[in-house]
Amino acid sequence: MGKIIINGDLKSRSDVKVDIEDRGYQFGDGVYEVIRVYNGELFAGDMHLNRLIDSAKLIQMKVPFTIAEIKTRMKELIAENQLKDGIVYMQLTRGVSARTHSFPTAEVEPVFVAYTKEMPYTGKMKPGVNAVTTDDIRWLRCNIKSLNLLGNIMAKQQAVEAGCDEAIQHRDGTVTEGSSSNVSIVVDGQLKTHPATNLILNGITRQVMLKLCADHGIPYVEEAFTVEDMMAADEVLYTSTSVEVTPIINIDGQSIAAGEPGPITQRLQKLFSEEIEKQCGSIK
Ligand code: PMP
Repeated sequence: MGKIIINGDLKSRSDVKVDIEDRGYQFGDGVYEVIRVYNGELFAGDMHLNRLIDSAKLIQMKVPFTIAEIKTRMKELIAENQLKDGIVYMQLTRGVSARTHSFPTAEVEPVFVAYTKEMPYTGKMKPGVNAVTTDDIRWLRCNIKSLNLLGNIMAKQQAVEAGCDEAIQHRDGTVTEGSSSNVSIVVDGQLKTHPATNLILNGITRQVMLKLCADHGIPYVEEAFTVEDMMAADEVLYTSTSVEVTPIINIDGQSIAAGEPGPITQRLQKLFSEEIEKQCGSIK
């Protein structure tokens, strides 16, 4: 795991202690980000850090650093840990204070922690995966990247128990998103994905993908679709920082179309890997 950043200090993992009255530990009272690193470079770093600030604002939590400061520290951490391909995980909690639900007094400082993890990148297109559908039991502020992930955890566990990679959540039959990803479908050459409302996390990968669609003439619409629409779609795909753009070829034991990655998904995979090279340099 290498070194860790806690509140601006670079420390060894074994020297970092979490206080039992940290509000992140007791309430999940905090926000987080996961940024992919390719070739030692942050991918879409500013977009992720802006989302971190936005999430903190939405739970009325102060952020004791600027985006530029966080970015500088993340670059130092990547260099210190000699990370080539992987992720930086960071979280900010409302701080340490005697347990009571309401916010602590203004002098309590947030606690910031960041670490890196290796995740190899081959540049090869990911093959199709299987998924299950499940009720979206989460709260109504899914646009906040909150440390409270119980609903997401329960959903992902269902996928794992069914031998699948992802759980696709829906509210009364309307697909929202995956347990840790955004989901899109392709019908008659048009990509469709849930609009960025309070019911989903506006994924950075989702945003990069939609920009690629716009730039390369791939028709798309940000519109909700039903489980029924999805099962009958030509293609289903999911996106996140860790899975990038990945086809879903089977849902609840039923093949999607021919049960193979479709042409639009494959085109987006290729465009996405080109975007990685553009931002982070040649992968070879
Ligand atoms: N939705 C949820 C619930 C997630 O946890 C994630 C992964 N952080 C995403 C969508 C995808 O977001 P991103 O592309 O920014 O990783």
